[in-house]
Amino acid sequence: MSITENLKKIKDSLPDNIILVAVSKTKPIEDILEAYHTGQRVFGENKIQEMTEKQEVLPKDIQWHMIGHVQRNKVKYMASYVSLIHGVDSLKLLKEIDKQAKKHRRIIPCLLQVFIATEETKFGLEQDELLELIHSDEFKSLQNIKIIGLMGMASFTTDTQKIQKEFQSLKDTFDYVKPYQLPNCHFEQLSIGMSGDYKIGIECGSTMVRIGSSIFGERNYLV
Ligand SMILES: *Cc1c(COP(=O)(O)O)cnc(C)c1O
Repeated sequence: MSITENLKKIKDSLPDNIILVAVSKTKPIEDILEAYHTGQRVFGENKIQEMTEKQEVLPKDIQWHMIGHVQRNKVKYMASYVSLIHGVDSLKLLKEIDKQAKKHRRIIPCLLQVFIATEETKFGLEQDELLELIHSDEFKSLQNIKIIGLMGMASFTTDTQKIQKEFQSLKDTFDYVKPYQLPNCHFEQLSIGMSGDYKIGIECGSTMVRIGSSIFGERNYLV
């Protein structure tokens, strides 16, 4: 099936209010343009340099989401245009995003990444670290970032019950922090679900799914 057909099939299966992030990492410009011409405007990348190279040549009404782990020294390369950073997992990183956003006189929306998997290789805040972060005075003083929700990645497994349990734990955290509101903090988005588990994500309250291979095909990391 073509990218156009894949996208249509996925979009038809998603509830209306769910934001689809088309994950285009490793994929060429032509593939992104094909998706763009079907009306897709939100794309996700996991490397800042790759995202920036694509952003420079592609239509300017694309909304670029950074979904990968962010190195602080690279925030400056995306600060002028990035529309959402999913993987924020420390106050140090938030402070750098705030600083770079200020230079561009903008407010950068972010999601806090929470660790829900059992694999040590995944990134994210523990629940108590999340609460500590949003309650800190330093956090409250940041004016050029806005936390709009949470993001998580389930363990890499075919055990759907385990995935569901992990997503549900994040949904519980999300519901717990939701009433907590500040000028720079308003929890409304829950980014859970990828190609293999987005249906479970939606059952567990996802508002944003990040889908790559089911749209663009398997990734070839050798190129
Ligand atoms: C690559 C990636 C995705 C998309 O994965 P698929 O299985 O190809 O849909 C989603 N989220 C993150 C954080 C990723 O790095």
